[in-house]
Amino acid sequence: MLVVMRHDAREEDVRAVVEAIQAMGYEARPMPGRQRTTVGLVGNEGRVDGTRLTSLDGVQELIHVTQPYKLVSREWKQESTVVRLPGGLTIGGDEVQVIAGPCSVEGETQLLAAARAVKEAGATLLRAGAFKPRSSPYSFQGLGPKGLKLLALARQETGLLIVTEAVDPEGVDLVAEAADIIQIGARNMQNYSLLRRAGRAGKPVLLKRGIAATIQELLLAAEYLLAEGNADVILCERGIRSYDTQTRNLLDLSAIPTVHALSHLPIIADPSHGTGRRDMVPSMARAAVAAGADGLLVEVHPNPEQALSDGGQSLRPEQFDRMMGELRLIAEAIGRRIAEPVVART
Ligand code: PEP
Ligand code: MN
Repeated sequence: MLVVMRHDAREEDVRAVVEAIQAMGYEARPMPGRQRTTVGLVGNEGRVDGTRLTSLDGVQELIHVTQPYKLVSREWKQESTVVRLPGGLTIGGDEVQVIAGPCSVEGETQLLAAARAVKEAGATLLRAGAFKPRSSPYSFQGLGPKGLKLLALARQETGLLIVTEAVDPEGVDLVAEAADIIQIGARNMQNYSLLRRAGRAGKPVLLKRGIAATIQELLLAAEYLLAEGNADVILCERGIRSYDTQTRNLLDLSAIPTVHALSHLPIIADPSHGTGRRDMVPSMARAAVAAGADGLLVEVHPNPEQALSDGGQSLRPEQFDRMMGELRLIAEAIGRRIAEPVVART
């Protein structure tokens, strides 16, 4: 439930509402806004009887949040969340951020070549996994801490911000040191101890939709992050399992307007895992930007044939460069723009 205060409510009125909510056995979250303060009530399972609150000084109205998720809902917060990153980059505003790089960190030469290539083409963030949650225990599992060091080096060399995955709660702090955005992968979308830990890590979190998760489950997973106090959450549509084997997954582009309607959080699209096929990545990337995605996550490898993971869906640098040119046109056509790298090109 949300308690909306009048625009002329005093600080002591807000305090009284907070105390009343706490006395009722719930948690109160005051949210000062430009026009007025609202106080959120969390911790309830069913509908709360708010009669006691309506009569307090300065209270304008009570809004009952009808969705099972609260803090992530548009009912709770009407303005879209804009996640602010170092260097002034934003996710969720007018800019569309392109996050690109190899599936995995494989070594210094590979990572730096990928980083330079994606930066040259105009990506603003570098992605690459140091810890890889693979379907088979016999597949390459990532370079671990050494991979994180290489990501830090790539950040220093190129100025690109880093997106990399944390796979377990114990690893979150280490990942948070190297990452500008902590990725939670599809297989871990409902790993609640990981979500709670990531919610406390002090860095924005990129939460990927589970392999067979509904949008409601995705939003409930995001709620765990916000409930821990992390408001900087970016959702990612990366395709869901379907019956058709032509593509690796079914990229659900309708998730983009659906999430924008239900939630204030930004949502980006991953056409690489969404299709699993390099030849289809540019068209689905263009479609995702047209559908209103706040960013893209795209796999690019300097030499996809040699990739230790996901080579078949990784773009070659020249394909990525061409695609970026197309995306700029599409973004402009819908009143947005593809963000530029923060640091001047080298
Ligand atoms: C990845 O981004 O490389 C990855 C493993 O993605 P997902 O969790 O969506 O499969
Ligand atoms: Mn991958």
